[in-house]
Amino acid sequence: SLTLGIETSCDETALALVDGGKLIAERIATQIDAHALFGGVVPELASREHLRVLSPLLDELLNEAGVALADVQNIAIARGPGLLGSLLVGMSFAKGLALATGARLVGVNHLWAHLTAPALAEDIQYPALGLLVSGGHTQTYCIRTPLDFQVLGRTLDDAAGEAFDKAAKSFNFPYPGGKYIDILGQLSEPDKKMFPRPYVNNDNLDFSFSGLKTAVVNFVDAHPHLRLPKMPGPGENVQDLLKEAGILDEFAHACASFNWAVADALRIKVDRALMQVKDEGIRSLVVAGGVAANSVIRQTMIEVAKAHKLHCVLPPLNLCTDNGAMIAVLGERLAEAGLRHDLNLEAIPRGRAIPWDYIQD
Ligand code: ATP
Ligand code: MG
Ligand code: FE
Repeated sequence: SLTLGIETSCDETALALVDGGKLIAERIATQIDAHALFGGVVPELASREHLRVLSPLLDELLNEAGVALADVQNIAIARGPGLLGSLLVGMSFAKGLALATGARLVGVNHLWAHLTAPALAEDIQYPALGLLVSGGHTQTYCIRTPLDFQVLGRTLDDAAGEAFDKAAKSFNFPYPGGKYIDILGQLSEPDKKMFPRPYVNNDNLDFSFSGLKTAVVNFVDAHPHLRLPKMPGPGENVQDLLKEAGILDEFAHACASFNWAVADALRIKVDRALMQVKDEGIRSLVVAGGVAANSVIRQTMIEVAKAHKLHCVLPPLNLCTDNGAMIAVLGERLAEAGLRHDLNLEAIPRGRAIPWDYIQD
Protein backbone atom coordinates (compact mmCIF):
# COMPACT_ATOMS: atom_id res chain seq x y z
CA SER A 1 0.00 0.00 0.00
CA LEU A 2 1.39 3.39 -1.02
CA THR A 3 3.36 4.64 1.98
CA LEU A 4 5.03 7.98 2.54
CA GLY A 5 8.04 7.79 4.88
CA ILE A 6 9.19 10.91 6.71
CA GLU A 7 12.56 11.12 8.47
CA THR A 8 13.64 14.17 10.49
CA SER A 9 15.30 12.62 13.55
CA CYS A 10 18.67 14.29 13.11
CA ASP A 11 20.30 16.27 10.31
CA GLU A 12 18.70 14.72 7.22
CA THR A 13 15.27 15.74 6.00
CA ALA A 14 14.20 12.72 3.99
CA LEU A 15 10.98 11.67 2.30
CA ALA A 16 10.22 8.56 0.27
CA LEU A 17 7.32 6.73 -1.32
CA VAL A 18 7.30 2.96 -1.07
CA ASP A 19 4.70 0.52 -2.39
CA GLY A 20 4.80 -3.23 -1.85
CA GLY A 21 8.29 -2.95 -0.37
CA LYS A 22 9.58 -1.22 -3.51
CA LEU A 23 10.94 2.31 -3.63
CA ILE A 24 8.90 4.60 -5.91
CA ALA A 25 10.70 7.92 -5.34
CA GLU A 26 12.71 9.70 -2.67
CA ARG A 27 14.11 13.08 -1.67
CA ILE A 28 16.89 13.75 0.83
CA ALA A 29 18.08 17.18 1.95
CA THR A 30 21.18 16.84 4.07
CA GLN A 31 22.16 19.58 6.49
CA ILE A 32 25.77 18.43 6.74
CA ASP A 33 27.15 21.69 5.34
CA ALA A 34 25.05 23.75 7.78
CA HIS A 35 26.52 21.90 10.78
CA ALA A 36 30.04 21.03 9.54
CA LEU A 37 31.59 24.28 10.77
CA PHE A 38 30.25 23.68 14.29
CA GLY A 39 31.84 20.23 14.50
CA GLY A 40 28.51 18.55 15.21
CA VAL A 41 24.77 18.87 14.81
CA VAL A 42 23.29 22.08 16.28
CA PRO A 43 19.76 21.06 17.38
CA GLU A 44 18.13 24.47 16.99
CA LEU A 45 19.50 24.86 13.48
CA ALA A 46 18.41 21.31 12.57
CA SER A 47 14.76 21.89 13.56
CA ARG A 48 14.56 25.10 11.57
CA GLU A 49 16.06 23.48 8.46
CA HIS A 50 13.55 20.61 8.64
CA LEU A 51 10.71 23.09 8.88
CA ARG A 52 12.06 25.09 5.93
CA VAL A 53 12.46 22.17 3.49
CA LEU A 54 9.74 19.62 4.32
CA SER A 55 6.94 21.16 2.27
CA PRO A 56 8.91 21.82 -0.92
CA LEU A 57 10.49 18.35 -0.71
CA LEU A 58 7.06 16.75 -0.50
CA ASP A 59 5.89 18.66 -3.60
CA GLU A 60 8.97 17.52 -5.52
CA LEU A 61 8.50 13.94 -4.38
CA LEU A 62 4.84 13.74 -5.41
CA ASN A 63 5.63 15.39 -8.74
CA GLU A 64 8.40 12.95 -9.50
CA ALA A 65 6.27 9.96 -8.57
CA GLY A 66 3.27 11.33 -10.43
CA VAL A 67 0.94 10.66 -7.52
CA ALA A 68 -1.43 12.88 -5.59
CA LEU A 69 -1.28 13.27 -1.83
CA ALA A 70 -4.77 11.73 -1.70
CA ASP A 71 -3.33 8.47 -3.13
CA VAL A 72 -1.06 7.99 -0.11
CA GLN A 73 -2.54 5.33 2.18
CA ASN A 74 -0.03 5.33 5.03
CA ILE A 75 2.05 8.11 6.53
CA ALA A 76 5.07 6.63 8.29
CA ILE A 77 6.97 8.99 10.58
CA ALA A 78 10.25 8.40 12.45
CA ARG A 79 9.11 8.98 16.05
CA GLY A 80 12.54 8.51 17.66
CA PRO A 81 15.08 8.15 18.95
CA GLY A 82 16.50 11.45 17.79
CA LEU A 83 16.68 15.16 18.57
CA LEU A 84 13.38 16.12 20.16
CA GLY A 85 12.94 19.41 18.28
CA SER A 86 13.73 17.78 14.94
CA LEU A 87 11.38 14.88 15.62
CA LEU A 88 8.58 17.26 16.57
CA VAL A 89 8.86 19.15 13.28
CA GLY A 90 8.48 15.93 11.28
CA MET A 91 5.79 14.67 13.62
CA SER A 92 3.62 17.78 13.27
CA PHE A 93 4.01 17.66 9.52
CA ALA A 94 3.02 13.96 9.42
CA LYS A 95 0.04 14.48 11.69
CA GLY A 96 -1.15 17.42 9.59
CA LEU A 97 -0.98 15.31 6.42
CA ALA A 98 -2.76 12.38 8.07
CA LEU A 99 -5.48 14.64 9.43
CA ALA A 100 -5.97 16.37 6.08
CA THR A 101 -6.04 13.20 3.95
CA GLY A 102 -7.37 10.54 6.32
CA ALA A 103 -4.27 8.39 5.66
CA ARG A 104 -3.17 5.93 8.33
CA LEU A 105 -0.53 7.41 10.67
CA VAL A 106 2.22 4.98 11.68
CA GLY A 107 5.02 5.95 14.07
CA VAL A 108 8.26 4.13 13.28
CA ASN A 109 11.25 3.30 15.47
CA HIS A 110 14.18 4.89 13.62
CA LEU A 111 16.62 2.18 14.73
CA TRP A 112 14.40 -0.69 13.59
CA ALA A 113 13.98 1.19 10.32
CA HIS A 114 17.78 1.20 9.84
CA LEU A 115 17.73 -2.59 10.31
CA THR A 116 14.86 -2.94 7.81
CA ALA A 117 16.44 -0.70 5.12
CA PRO A 118 18.30 -3.52 3.32
CA ALA A 119 14.90 -5.13 2.57
CA LEU A 120 14.55 -2.51 -0.18
CA ALA A 121 17.42 -4.18 -2.02
CA GLU A 122 17.04 -7.87 -1.13
CA ASP A 123 14.84 -10.25 0.84
CA ILE A 124 15.98 -10.58 4.43
CA GLN A 125 15.62 -14.09 5.83
CA TYR A 126 14.34 -14.13 9.38
CA PRO A 127 15.17 -14.82 12.16
CA ALA A 128 18.17 -12.54 11.76
CA LEU A 129 20.92 -11.24 13.98
CA GLY A 130 21.11 -7.46 13.60
CA LEU A 131 24.13 -5.23 14.10
CA LEU A 132 23.16 -1.56 14.20
CA VAL A 133 26.15 0.77 13.95
CA SER A 134 25.07 4.37 13.53
CA GLY A 135 25.96 7.87 14.63
CA GLY A 136 24.22 7.52 17.99
CA HIS A 137 23.84 3.77 18.57
CA THR A 138 25.76 0.52 18.57
CA GLN A 139 23.56 -2.48 19.30
CA THR A 140 23.03 -6.12 18.46
CA TYR A 141 19.51 -7.46 18.00
CA CYS A 142 17.74 -10.74 17.71
CA ILE A 143 15.17 -10.02 14.97
CA ARG A 144 12.73 -12.93 15.14
CA THR A 145 10.23 -11.64 12.58
CA PRO A 146 10.15 -8.43 10.51
CA LEU A 147 8.34 -6.72 13.42
CA ASP A 148 9.97 -8.36 16.45
CA PHE A 149 13.25 -6.76 17.55
CA GLN A 150 15.02 -7.65 20.80
CA VAL A 151 18.16 -5.82 21.88
CA LEU A 152 20.97 -8.18 22.93
CA GLY A 153 23.94 -5.86 23.47
CA ARG A 154 24.36 -2.09 23.48
CA THR A 155 27.08 0.48 23.97
CA LEU A 156 27.77 1.60 27.51
CA ASP A 157 29.03 5.00 26.35
CA ASP A 158 29.83 6.23 22.83
CA ALA A 159 28.51 4.75 19.60
CA ALA A 160 30.87 3.46 16.92
CA GLY A 161 29.92 6.43 14.73
CA GLU A 162 30.81 8.86 17.50
CA ALA A 163 34.22 7.20 17.82
CA PHE A 164 34.78 7.63 14.09
CA ASP A 165 33.63 11.24 14.18
CA LYS A 166 35.68 12.13 17.26
CA ALA A 167 38.77 10.46 15.81
CA ALA A 168 38.23 12.44 12.61
CA LYS A 169 37.80 15.61 14.65
CA SER A 170 41.13 15.03 16.41
CA PHE A 171 42.71 14.97 12.96
CA ASN A 172 40.80 18.18 12.17
CA PHE A 173 38.51 16.68 9.54
CA PRO A 174 35.06 18.18 8.97
CA TYR A 175 32.04 16.59 10.65
CA PRO A 176 30.96 13.83 10.12
CA GLY A 177 34.44 12.46 9.47
CA GLY A 178 33.89 8.69 9.54
CA LYS A 179 34.02 8.38 5.78
CA TYR A 180 37.46 10.07 5.56
CA ILE A 181 38.91 7.54 7.98
CA ASP A 182 37.45 4.76 5.85
CA ILE A 183 38.73 6.11 2.53
CA LEU A 184 42.22 6.98 3.79
CA GLY A 185 42.54 3.68 5.64
CA GLN A 186 42.04 1.83 2.36
CA LEU A 187 45.48 3.11 1.28
CA SER A 188 47.33 1.17 3.98
CA GLU A 189 47.57 -1.97 6.10
CA PRO A 190 46.60 -1.76 9.77
CA ASP A 191 49.00 -1.89 12.71
CA LYS A 192 47.02 -4.10 15.08
CA LYS A 193 48.96 -2.76 18.06
CA MET A 194 48.41 0.93 17.38
CA PHE A 195 44.98 1.22 19.03
CA PRO A 196 43.33 -1.00 21.64
CA ARG A 197 40.31 -2.98 20.54
CA PRO A 198 37.77 -1.43 22.86
CA TYR A 199 36.02 -3.47 25.55
CA VAL A 200 36.63 -6.98 24.27
CA ASN A 201 38.26 -8.60 27.32
CA ASN A 202 35.02 -9.58 29.06
CA ASP A 203 32.31 -12.08 28.32
CA ASN A 204 29.28 -9.84 27.67
CA LEU A 205 27.64 -8.52 24.51
CA ASP A 206 27.93 -4.80 25.27
CA PHE A 207 30.17 -2.28 23.55
CA SER A 208 32.25 0.66 24.74
CA PHE A 209 34.06 3.08 22.47
CA SER A 210 35.10 5.87 24.81
CA GLY A 211 38.47 4.23 25.52
CA LEU A 212 39.31 4.07 21.84
CA LYS A 213 38.34 7.70 21.46
CA THR A 214 40.76 8.67 24.23
CA ALA A 215 43.46 6.50 22.64
CA VAL A 216 43.12 8.49 19.40
CA VAL A 217 43.24 11.82 21.24
CA ASN A 218 46.44 10.65 23.00
CA PHE A 219 47.85 9.40 19.70
CA VAL A 220 47.33 12.78 18.04
CA ASP A 221 48.85 14.55 21.08
CA ALA A 222 51.93 12.35 20.64
CA HIS A 223 52.02 12.92 16.87
CA PRO A 224 50.89 16.55 16.55
CA HIS A 225 52.02 16.77 12.91
CA LEU A 226 49.08 14.46 12.07
CA ARG A 227 46.61 17.13 13.07
CA LEU A 228 45.76 19.14 9.96
CA PRO A 229 46.63 22.79 10.60
CA LYS A 230 43.42 23.83 8.84
CA MET A 231 40.12 21.99 8.43
CA PRO A 232 39.57 21.11 4.74
CA GLY A 233 36.75 23.19 3.29
CA PRO A 234 33.93 21.78 1.18
CA GLY A 235 35.28 20.62 -2.17
CA GLU A 236 38.90 20.39 -0.98
CA ASN A 237 40.47 17.00 -1.63
CA VAL A 238 41.68 15.64 1.70
CA GLN A 239 44.02 13.13 0.12
CA ASP A 240 45.78 15.86 -1.88
CA LEU A 241 46.11 18.03 1.22
CA LEU A 242 47.73 15.18 3.15
CA LYS A 243 50.05 14.39 0.26
CA GLU A 244 51.18 18.02 0.01
CA ALA A 245 51.88 18.00 3.73
CA GLY A 246 53.93 14.80 3.27
CA ILE A 247 51.88 12.86 5.84
CA LEU A 248 49.60 10.78 3.63
CA ASP A 249 51.29 7.40 4.31
CA GLU A 250 51.54 7.87 8.05
CA PHE A 251 47.99 9.11 8.13
CA ALA A 252 46.60 6.24 6.10
CA HIS A 253 48.36 3.80 8.43
CA ALA A 254 46.68 5.36 11.49
CA CYS A 255 43.27 5.30 9.77
CA ALA A 256 43.67 1.66 8.71
CA SER A 257 44.61 0.77 12.29
CA PHE A 258 41.58 2.60 13.65
CA ASN A 259 39.21 0.91 11.17
CA TRP A 260 40.65 -2.46 12.16
CA ALA A 261 40.27 -1.83 15.92
CA VAL A 262 36.58 -0.91 15.55
CA ALA A 263 35.82 -3.69 13.08
CA ASP A 264 37.54 -6.34 15.17
CA ALA A 265 35.74 -5.27 18.36
CA LEU A 266 32.44 -5.53 16.45
CA ARG A 267 33.49 -8.93 15.07
CA ILE A 268 34.14 -10.31 18.56
CA LYS A 269 30.78 -9.14 19.91
CA VAL A 270 28.75 -10.25 16.88
CA ASP A 271 30.43 -13.65 17.02
CA ARG A 272 29.59 -13.89 20.72
CA ALA A 273 25.97 -12.80 20.12
CA LEU A 274 25.58 -15.49 17.45
CA MET A 275 26.78 -18.11 19.95
CA GLN A 276 24.33 -16.86 22.53
CA VAL A 277 21.30 -17.08 20.20
CA LYS A 278 22.32 -20.33 18.52
CA ASP A 279 18.98 -21.96 19.41
CA GLU A 280 17.00 -19.28 17.55
CA GLY A 281 17.65 -20.72 14.10
CA ILE A 282 19.25 -17.49 12.87
CA ARG A 283 19.43 -17.37 9.06
CA SER A 284 21.07 -14.05 8.32
CA LEU A 285 23.31 -11.34 9.69
CA VAL A 286 21.93 -7.87 8.98
CA VAL A 287 24.32 -4.92 9.35
CA ALA A 288 22.82 -1.41 9.27
CA GLY A 289 23.35 2.26 10.14
CA GLY A 290 25.75 4.87 8.78
CA VAL A 291 28.86 3.03 9.97
CA ALA A 292 27.73 -0.04 7.98
CA ALA A 293 29.08 1.94 5.00
CA ASN A 294 32.60 1.32 6.33
CA SER A 295 34.54 -0.94 3.97
CA VAL A 296 36.52 -2.76 6.67
CA ILE A 297 33.41 -3.39 8.77
CA ARG A 298 31.54 -4.70 5.72
CA GLN A 299 34.35 -7.10 4.84
CA THR A 300 34.66 -8.24 8.45
CA MET A 301 30.93 -8.94 8.74
CA ILE A 302 30.92 -10.91 5.46
CA GLU A 303 33.61 -13.11 7.06
CA VAL A 304 31.69 -13.51 10.35
CA ALA A 305 28.53 -14.49 8.46
CA LYS A 306 30.47 -16.99 6.37
CA ALA A 307 32.00 -18.61 9.46
CA HIS A 308 28.47 -19.09 10.85
CA LYS A 309 27.02 -20.14 7.47
CA LEU A 310 24.64 -17.18 7.38
CA HIS A 311 23.54 -14.80 4.66
CA CYS A 312 25.22 -11.46 5.17
CA VAL A 313 22.78 -8.63 4.46
CA LEU A 314 24.53 -5.31 3.86
CA PRO A 315 22.53 -2.27 2.75
CA PRO A 316 23.71 -0.44 -0.36
CA LEU A 317 25.65 2.64 0.74
CA ASN A 318 22.75 5.09 0.20
CA LEU A 319 20.58 3.04 2.58
CA CYS A 320 23.16 3.03 5.41
CA THR A 321 22.77 6.62 6.57
CA ASP A 322 19.41 8.22 7.35
CA ASN A 323 16.82 8.07 4.60
CA GLY A 324 13.06 8.19 4.15
CA ALA A 325 12.79 4.85 2.35
CA MET A 326 13.68 2.86 5.47
CA ILE A 327 10.94 4.64 7.43
CA ALA A 328 8.43 3.96 4.65
CA VAL A 329 9.33 0.29 4.24
CA LEU A 330 8.96 -0.49 7.94
CA GLY A 331 5.87 1.75 8.16
CA GLU A 332 4.26 -0.20 5.33
CA ARG A 333 4.97 -3.50 7.10
CA LEU A 334 3.39 -2.17 10.32
CA ALA A 335 0.38 -0.80 8.45
CA GLU A 336 -0.16 -4.08 6.65
CA ALA A 337 -0.09 -5.85 10.01
CA GLY A 338 -3.09 -3.66 10.93
CA LEU A 339 -1.13 -1.35 13.22
CA ARG A 340 -1.49 2.41 13.45
CA HIS A 341 -1.27 5.44 15.72
CA ASP A 342 -3.67 8.29 16.31
CA LEU A 343 -2.87 11.99 16.67
CA ASN A 344 -1.67 11.43 20.25
CA LEU A 345 1.50 9.81 18.89
CA GLU A 346 4.50 11.10 20.86
CA ALA A 347 8.05 11.82 19.70
CA ILE A 348 10.66 9.99 21.80
CA PRO A 349 14.07 11.63 22.19
CA ARG A 350 17.37 9.76 22.52
CA GLY A 351 17.80 7.86 25.75
CA ARG A 352 14.13 7.00 26.28
CA ALA A 353 12.69 3.59 25.45
CA ILE A 354 10.25 3.59 22.55
CA PRO A 355 6.94 2.08 23.64
CA TRP A 356 5.02 -0.45 21.55
CA ASP A 357 1.82 1.59 21.62
CA TYR A 358 0.19 0.75 18.28
CA ILE A 359 -3.55 0.59 17.89
CA GLN A 360 -4.49 -2.73 16.30
CA ASP A 361 -7.32 -2.69 13.76
P1 ATP B 1 21.18 7.26 14.95
O1 ATP B 1 20.61 6.48 13.81
O2 ATP B 1 21.90 6.41 15.95
O3 ATP B 1 20.22 8.20 15.55
P2 ATP B 1 22.42 8.89 12.92
O4 ATP B 1 21.14 8.66 12.21
O5 ATP B 1 22.88 10.27 13.11
O6 ATP B 1 22.36 8.17 14.33
P3 ATP B 1 23.56 7.53 10.72
O7 ATP B 1 23.05 8.52 9.74
O8 ATP B 1 23.02 6.15 10.67
O9 ATP B 1 23.52 8.08 12.20
O10 ATP B 1 25.12 7.41 10.57
C1 ATP B 1 25.97 8.53 10.63
C2 ATP B 1 27.32 8.06 11.10
O11 ATP B 1 27.90 7.16 10.12
C3 ATP B 1 28.32 9.17 11.31
O12 ATP B 1 28.94 8.96 12.56
C4 ATP B 1 29.32 8.97 10.15
O13 ATP B 1 30.63 9.40 10.43
C5 ATP B 1 29.27 7.47 10.00
N1 ATP B 1 29.79 7.00 8.71
C6 ATP B 1 29.28 7.24 7.48
N2 ATP B 1 30.05 6.64 6.54
C7 ATP B 1 31.05 6.00 7.20
C8 ATP B 1 32.16 5.18 6.79
N3 ATP B 1 32.38 4.91 5.51
N4 ATP B 1 32.96 4.69 7.76
C9 ATP B 1 32.73 4.96 9.06
N5 ATP B 1 31.72 5.72 9.50
C10 ATP B 1 30.89 6.23 8.58
MG1 MG C 1 22.91 12.07 9.62
FE1 FE D 1 20.02 7.09 11.93
